[in-house]
Amino acid sequence: MLLKLTAVAGDGIGPEVTEQALLALQAVADGFDHQLQVQHKPIGGAALTATNDPLPPDTLQACLASSAVLLGAVGSPAFDQNPPHLRPEAGLLRLRRELGAYANLRPAVFFPALEDCSPLRGEIVRGTDILIVRELLGGAYFGQPRSIEGNPGSRVAVNTMRYGEDEIERIARVAFELAMTRKRKVLSVDKANVLECSRLWREVVTRVGKNYPDVKLGHQYVDSAAMLLVQRPAEFDVLLTENMFGDILSDQAGGVVGSLGLLASASIGGPIGLYEPVHGSAPDIAGKGIANPLGAILSVAMLLRHSFQLNAEAGCIERAVSAVLSQGARTADLVRKGQAPISTAEMGRRVAEAVTSQQAERTA
Ligand code: NAD
Repeated sequence: MLLKLTAVAGDGIGPEVTEQALLALQAVADGFDHQLQVQHKPIGGAALTATNDPLPPDTLQACLASSAVLLGAVGSPAFDQNPPHLRPEAGLLRLRRELGAYANLRPAVFFPALEDCSPLRGEIVRGTDILIVRELLGGAYFGQPRSIEGNPGSRVAVNTMRYGEDEIERIARVAFELAMTRKRKVLSVDKANVLECSRLWREVVTRVGKNYPDVKLGHQYVDSAAMLLVQRPAEFDVLLTENMFGDILSDQAGGVVGSLGLLASASIGGPIGLYEPVHGSAPDIAGKGIANPLGAILSVAMLLRHSFQLNAEAGCIERAVSAVLSQGARTADLVRKGQAPISTAEMGRRVAEAVTSQQAERTA
């Protein structure tokens, strides 16, 4: 199969982790006889520096002409004072919208080898396997009007949280369909005691749920869901929520399973999927070669599964990641007292090697 991708590595640690993700992808493509074709394009701060546009037309065209897009991360303190449309994040938000990627899937899976990395006791975190299904194109991140107006000292800021029934219905369907392939539980997270958006959300999700009698649907307010996530993470299956709540809860889920650097994501729903680690550009560690590339590498597994239906290939990458962690490979974010960290590149090399050796076993 031809795997035609655009890689938009972006800023900070984005290029560092994307390089390792592509290494794993090349190893799997070689092993399974696929042809990998990757075009590299700038986005975010890198694109602002080059063209004063966080999503240049050339980048967007390349993404729209691909079968899938692999993103590193965007964001840099250098652009903190820029107006909203000239910030790196504006490029990513626009790309998601242009791709019609309304469903953001963020798995948070506990790796037995990393039990000592979780801040939670082993008996609590063991068995955690959560799929956060986050609505990605609505809510406060996109709602209009938005502004900061007035004179210094008396300015007023406005954001608008907005959801239409159709937007809620389509993301709910994604969550229920995915739950059917898992433990058949959906927990819908909202703030229906305070927000109108959440009241409509709860009503529509309940209605959609009636079409899935085999799936157990529950509702939880976001504040209490945040608490449950640390108290009983292993009881979650699919967590369905709106854009901002999902953004926050998925970072928390990353902390629960050991590191934000482990978390992968897929943004689907449109014709072209967008795959990226959950973490940001991490300016505090950028350029040091110490970032954890596993979130990016696991995003490639999601890309193979969701954009190309290559489940065996995706599984091969996931098993390779488990294998290197079981062998004790740890980047700096995962090391505990007495353990020596390995670099981003070394972690990537070991995963690619594990992919290749699985292939050798398969064909032996
Ligand atoms: P961040 O996710 O970049 O970093 C949070 C903390 O986690 C930092 O201490 C960082 O060093 C650590 N971390 C993150 N990824 C890691 C990895 N792979 N390995 C090891 N440690 C890792 O979030 P932030 O600091 O709040 O934001 C930094 C920039 O990233 C901002 O400009 C923000 O807007 C942007 N951002 C972008 C995305 C995206 O591109 N999808 C997502 C979140 C934040």
